[in-house]
Amino acid sequence: MSEIKSVFKSGSAEAHTLLSENGYYGNYGGSFIPEILVPAFEEISKQFEVIKNDEAFWQEYCALLADYSGRPTPLTYADRLTEHFGRAKIYVKREDLNHTGAHKLNNALGQAMLAKKMGKTRIIAETGAGQHGVATATVAAKLGLSATIYMGREDMERQYANVFWMRRLGAEVVAVDYGSQTLKDAINETLRDWVSSFETTHYVLGTASGAHPFPAIVAFFQSIIGIEAKQQIIQAAGQLPSHVYACVGGGSNALGIFQAFYPHDEVQLVGVEAGGQGKESGNHAARIAYGEGMPGVAQGYKTMFLQNKDGQMHDTHSIAAGLDYVGVSPILTDLSEKGRVQFAAATDAEVIDALEVVMKTEGLIPALESTHAFAGAFQHLAESSRSDIFIINMSGRGDKDIFNVAEGLRDEEWKAFIQQKNKQYND
Ligand SMILES: *Cc1c(COP(=O)(O)O)cnc(C)c1O
Repeated sequence: MSEIKSVFKSGSAEAHTLLSENGYYGNYGGSFIPEILVPAFEEISKQFEVIKNDEAFWQEYCALLADYSGRPTPLTYADRLTEHFGRAKIYVKREDLNHTGAHKLNNALGQAMLAKKMGKTRIIAETGAGQHGVATATVAAKLGLSATIYMGREDMERQYANVFWMRRLGAEVVAVDYGSQTLKDAINETLRDWVSSFETTHYVLGTASGAHPFPAIVAFFQSIIGIEAKQQIIQAAGQLPSHVYACVGGGSNALGIFQAFYPHDEVQLVGVEAGGQGKESGNHAARIAYGEGMPGVAQGYKTMFLQNKDGQMHDTHSIAAGLDYVGVSPILTDLSEKGRVQFAAATDAEVIDALEVVMKTEGLIPALESTHAFAGAFQHLAESSRSDIFIINMSGRGDKDIFNVAEGLRDEEWKAFIQQKNKQYND
């Protein structure tokens, strides 16, 4: 516990490298919110500054990260994967071993504790794939808060296992029936709830996007990933990595690992977006890598959105539900424009191929989201040398993806099993 606390506190330089100016990161970010929510945002900004220097808060937060969530997560040397390609040495940061199976809990726990500090008794959240919903329902149970999770109807059908667990954990899950019935609609509905409930309720936003100060808060709570990884790689390899890869949905796991390496210009930071069915197909969520996002203001902030000239949002697609979002962190958009973070995209097909290689060489089952980071790294391996060191952020574990992976691999035996189960229920 003290090990975490000694590196992860407000004074930690690594967690403070990406400060905004008045809520802006270059040309992006800001806070475009309904008048009625201004006091709620001001309260959060103020309390966030307070808790950063609150010794009791850090004591409790770091104790829970260590004894409840299982931090620090390991950095694993992928020796067989390294030999498979015969180029750069590959290390994997294991957020799959964090409680609830992904990085999401680092932020959900921090914000739920912030909510309690502000005297709130209820937390609400949006969720796309359901991972953030599960993390939020989990910390609500652990801290004794009530929770309501908004989720698009279409996402509920695609990710029913997570809906099941959120409800068993005691959260109310509300289906959002309008628009594309996915993440962006769930965000709008959560904001609608908050407008009439902020006196008692905190909105636990799940990624490093949205109106200021949410990108800053989420990036801050996730910065523990990179702080640990930097110490671990120096211990394991005696030097900094040449490249760090992370998948990018809203941007929280990527910023979480990138921040510690940001001051070291020699470390290349690469964000990997969802290439879906490829650039030409139009079915993807590559806002930056495919150069198709356009600057705009929506959902409370300014960033690159996949939209048409009239500001109508495009439908997005990815085999990984957690990467399927029209916007992206304003912090990453800025870092991309400044050339500090490079962007790549991996298609659904590349991701399925990469997953098979990782499973068979390393015995690891990364989430489909995280597999994008592996696939992006594999695209660059051919040009790398044996003296290069890659760190791949494995943001979560893949058990949740069994339905999509079985479909992607066209697994006939799995299909027969599902048909058999279906028959059992109907008899
Ligand atoms: C939610 C999720 C993501 C995408 O969200 P970011 O905010 O971009 O990190 C990626 N990987 C996993 C495992 C997730 O659950």
